[in-house]
Formats: sequence, structure tokens, C-alpha cells
Amino acid sequence: MTTFERIPVFLDPGHGGEHTGVVANNIVEKFYVATFANALYWVLHDTHWFRPHISRGGDENISLDDAGEIAEKCSAKFALAIHVNANDDPRVSGMMTFYMSGDEIGSGVAAEMQRNAPPGLTRTSDSPIMGLQSAWPRVYNVLLPYRKREIPAVLIELGFATNEKNALMLNAPLVRQQLLGTIIRGLEHLKYVYGE
Ligand SMILES: [Zn+2]
Repeated sequence: MTTFERIPVFLDPGHGGEHTGVVANNIVEKFYVATFANALYWVLHDTHWFRPHISRGGDENISLDDAGEIAEKCSAKFALAIHVNANDDPRVSGMMTFYMSGDEIGSGVAAEMQRNAPPGLTRTSDSPIMGLQSAWPRVYNVLLPYRKREIPAVLIELGFATNEKNALMLNAPLVRQQLLGTIIRGLEHLKYVYGE
């Protein structure tokens, strides 16, 4: 390879349309992740390392399997599903990353993201590893369409909208910038995997 080819990366902001996702503390997940993914799209575009694709530009709902199909059509080498978390217990907080067991690339990207989580959004526990018999069906279902197509993938939950402090952070422009940096650091792992 004499010239470097941009790595195609697929971004899938969750929900959309009638599926709002979590609504709490001034965050509506479907809008939040769409705006975030759009910002991420342009940051990735400007790195010249990545060729970003995005599942939805507006407020439509793309089914999980359709997202997988679009990712395949744009020859994605990696897929990132972007969500905001919720929990009945408002004390639960922090950024989380998930990947399927056996997905070494996803595992590498997730580890880099965790290492570079914004201060105040780090979690003390390690990210759960999604096995094929996962006890986390919601996460499992998001990652499955990529697994079926052998596309390495990570689901990132940026923080808990149900936690007041996390919600304030997610809405702060500085933290949003930091989260974009967190994701770039993670995706840079792909350079070592797919680069020359
Ligand atoms: Zn979600």
C-alpha cells in the first residue's frame, strides 16, 4: 500500500423517531446522540485518518438490523453505536463501553476509550464483556447486527442521564469536547490495526 486509505467507520446514534430513548434531566437521548454523532462525524472527517459514515442525519428511526446493513454497504471496518444510559438508581453514573466477546478490535478500542474517559465520567469497574449468551439483551441486540457481519463494534454509553451530575456534564460543552477526544483516542487504536 503506497497511499494511506482512510478507515471507514460507521457511527450509529441510537433511537430516533418515536423511539426517544432515555428522557431525564434535560436530556432526550435521541436528540443528544444525533447531535453528538454529527459533531463526531466532522471531527473524524478532519483527522484524515477516517472515512466516517452515519446511520441517520435526522430524527428517523433506523432498525438495528438496517444499521448493520448500512455499515456493511459502506464497507465499515468498525462500527460505533452511541447511546446515553439510564438506571432506576439515580446514583449510578459513568461512561460505559461494551463489545462482543472475541472481538479483539472492539476490545482494544473500548479499552482506549475507558483509559481516556473525561474526569468525572470514569468508572471504577471494568467494562463488561458481551458474550454470545449475554445477560444484557439490550446491549447484545445493538451489537449483534455487526457481529453477524463480522464488523468489529463498540457500544458506548456516554453517561447516565438519570444521574443529575452526569446529565449536567453531558450538557456542558467542555465535557462534550472531552468525550469527542475520548472517542478519537479509542478509534486511533484502529490505525495500529489497519494502518501500514
Ligand atoms: Zn439508548
